Amino acid sequence: MAKVLDRKLLDILVCPVCKAEISLNREKNGLICDKCKLEYPIRDDIPVMLPDEARSLEEGGEGPG
Ligand SMILES: [Zn+2]
Repeated sequence: MAKVLDRKLLDILVCPVCKAEISLNREKNGLICDKCKLEYPIRDDIPVMLPDEARSLEEGGEGPG
């Protein structure tokens, strides 16, 4: 069984954009920053803490413009 992310790891991980704490999403396949409304993917049990890879959680938005 693959191990879900360690709580200790979550404790040291912060959002690279705003440095706020992040939390696991419901499916446990991403990490969410409540401040930025961004979801960072987890690939092969490794959190990808890159703003470029993050997905926006804002609904109804189709991007700028
Ligand atoms: Zn953030």
